[in-house]
Amino acid sequence: MAPTPMIQQYLQVKSEYQDAFLFFRLGDFYEMFYDDAIKASQLLEITLTSRGGNGEDRIPMCGVPHHSAKNYIDQLIQKGHKVAVCEQVEDPKTTKGVVKREVVRLITPGTHTEGKSVDAKANNFIAAADEVAGGFGLAYLDISTGESTATYIAGNEKELLNELQALHIRELVVSEQLRLLLAEEDQQLILSVEHMEAPFMAEASLFVDCPKELETCGKRLLAYIAATQKQSLGHIQPFKYRENTRILGIDYYSKRNLELIESIRGGDNKGTLLWLLDETVTAMGSRKLKQWLHQPLADRLAIESRQQMVEALMDRYFVRVELQQLLKEVYDLERLSGRVAFGSASGRDLAQLRNSLEKIPELVRELKGSGHSSLEQFSAGLDPCPEVCELLAAISDNPPLSAKEGGVIRDGFNAQLDEYRDASRNGKDWIAELEQKERAKTGIRSLKVGYNRIFGYYIEISKANMHLADLERYERKQTLANAERYITPELKEKEALILTAEEKSLTLEYELFVSVREQVKEYISRIQQLASKISALDVYISFSEVAEKYRFTKPAFNDGRNISIREGRHPVVEKMLNKQHYVPNDCELDDDGNMLLITGPNMSGKSTYMRQVALTIVLAQIGSYVPAASAELPIVDQIFTRIGAADDLVSGQSTFMVEMMESQYAISHATERSLLLFDEIGRGTSTYDGMALAQSMIEYIHEHIGANTLFSTHYHELTALEETLPNLRNVHVSAMEQSGKVVFLHKVKRGPADKSYGVHVAELANLPEAILSRARELLISFEADNRKTQQQAEQLSFFDERDTANEEVLQTIKDVSVSRMTPLEALQLINDLQEKISGGG
Ligand code: ADP
Repeated sequence: MAPTPMIQQYLQVKSEYQDAFLFFRLGDFYEMFYDDAIKASQLLEITLTSRGGNGEDRIPMCGVPHHSAKNYIDQLIQKGHKVAVCEQVEDPKTTKGVVKREVVRLITPGTHTEGKSVDAKANNFIAAADEVAGGFGLAYLDISTGESTATYIAGNEKELLNELQALHIRELVVSEQLRLLLAEEDQQLILSVEHMEAPFMAEASLFVDCPKELETCGKRLLAYIAATQKQSLGHIQPFKYRENTRILGIDYYSKRNLELIESIRGGDNKGTLLWLLDETVTAMGSRKLKQWLHQPLADRLAIESRQQMVEALMDRYFVRVELQQLLKEVYDLERLSGRVAFGSASGRDLAQLRNSLEKIPELVRELKGSGHSSLEQFSAGLDPCPEVCELLAAISDNPPLSAKEGGVIRDGFNAQLDEYRDASRNGKDWIAELEQKERAKTGIRSLKVGYNRIFGYYIEISKANMHLADLERYERKQTLANAERYITPELKEKEALILTAEEKSLTLEYELFVSVREQVKEYISRIQQLASKISALDVYISFSEVAEKYRFTKPAFNDGRNISIREGRHPVVEKMLNKQHYVPNDCELDDDGNMLLITGPNMSGKSTYMRQVALTIVLAQIGSYVPAASAELPIVDQIFTRIGAADDLVSGQSTFMVEMMESQYAISHATERSLLLFDEIGRGTSTYDGMALAQSMIEYIHEHIGANTLFSTHYHELTALEETLPNLRNVHVSAMEQSGKVVFLHKVKRGPADKSYGVHVAELANLPEAILSRARELLISFEADNRKTQQQAEQLSFFDERDTANEEVLQTIKDVSVSRMTPLEALQLINDLQEKISGGG
């Protein structure tokens, strides 16, 4: 059976939006058909029905009421789908045949700006990427705030995807070619190919800061947004060029390992650095802090200028409290101006914008009065946008949510509007008085004047009093069970007056409102600049609160690469420990020793120590104070970590494979200005294998990279490396044995640990005594074996001095010492050699 004209129209529209759910407007519903209907009915848990034809011809269908569509759209977006909203663009009453329909907006995870799935405290970026020599161009922006950035990503697709993950980008606009390439690598990322049928003329001024190549990328992004949103993009800010050399690079895995923003377990951010640091009072501030944590600086001057603000606020408790009070009354200026640009700002939004802007002069006054030059200077950059306040004076104090209900524009703003309002108010007063007059005339005390939408104003008299009604003047309009409703010509006349005045007033009011909103649009970039400063101020205050609360100090920077931290702490572990005492530790890395090999029992604090050094660097480079008695730090270019053993179950990679991939990534990208953290490398394989890998990595970093490196290991054999690698130092986290039990001191000391205490830790974990005593027995015999090996090695070197006959054996012995084998590995070789000597020599 041929499809009906309506279904034909549906299929035509759907063919242009294959990758989206098509919400097809039919009267009061959005309907979905065919596969869309089947999938949506499952995802949204709504009833699947069908329409037209018989049996197999029936078309699957499901629908949602248009007034609750937002909610369903939100759910689909949250699940990573796109929704094309197709509306009737003609009035069905005046159209013959099928009503014309058009897609008015394509909503996608990257372009969604409202609803529950949008987190006020996080940016929702959409990005576009393009291949360029040696890597990719990347442009990304947050439609709700208009912030936009362009940058280069050096490397291959993996590096690009890494960066996207770090920025939490869910949707990427790409060419078809790049789409095919990336689709294989990442199934979660939404890859959108631009809708080029809508050519978009991007203003050149948006790209003044960017290299030409990145402009292509930015234009692709804007074209996609223009085509999907079909709305003004006036609030998009010029693309900021992010030069990666000025940013501390931390890849996605390392951010997660260090628990900067997300915890390793995922879920909420409890236990992360963000969790500790976020004392901001505005959503803008919270987003800004996240951005700073994502991209700490690598530019000393920029860092120090942030530090100055924090320092100024540190010793001014009362100024801080005052500023925070004011900031609490500033709404989300970024998202408000986004809504103004979109033309979706309500009267309430405009009132919030005005009320927020009115706080700015007070903020300026407070900063100026602080008596600190940095704060004074900062205040000079805060533009209170007086023109906008003037425009917004038109908006009433408490406007309703919908601008069409009236009450948005304040009295006295527009003479014509006041006139309509007076007419309507006078009419209403007249009606209110009418009740009294009619009661007096008829003597009916229960007489009422009322209003309903169908009959308008009426006089109501109960059945019992009907005999008193003045039927000469009254005309019956409606009969109820125990009352009659009447109208009079006079009443109808007033009613017409009130209703026309009301209608005119609403129309005029809406026009005025839209005109104000349009005029505010002109000032959006100024509001955005202000918003950016206000959010930074919120973060500075947060930094100083945190510094005071947790006794942080201001780090100093050097231009070399020495790290000198006195009494450093891991701020999150310290906070978690609650009342227990956290043991502070120093960290000294300099040109004579920039690699630490950390040994010590399990659970003694090796990993915590390494992390605290990395967190100190991150904190310093976002402009914050640091958890230490004092710290002198270099400007680090990148941090790489290989920490923890959380299996990457999602991608199906084994722990060991992930470990090797992360190590590879670190080793191939690190420079001598980087910080490397390696926690227990080589655990996931056999002892020899693991130890061999660990040792060769240490040697490689020592010889070829020269980066500041913290390397923790449970292979005691590796501590011998200190003798051969001049820049490597042994340290250990101390523990004590007290009446056979291990006591962790958590103190980092020079030199290697004396033993592992593994069995002691097992004891703490309450393993059965049978297992523990057997383990102790085995340990003694293993240690004895080890001593034997060492003795054999010594005998061999004695033998080496005496016998010069066997050249081959001698050469092998030299190789052994050059390759810095561990005693266990040497044992294998010695056995081979002994066989050779006794057999051949
Ligand atoms: P390792 O890496 O040596 O196995 P961790 O670094 O994971 O040990 O530390 C184990 C636990 O010891 C931590 O969860 C923390 O509770 C505690 N700890 C670590 N370092 C300290 C310290 N400096 N002061 C107090 N407690 C600490």
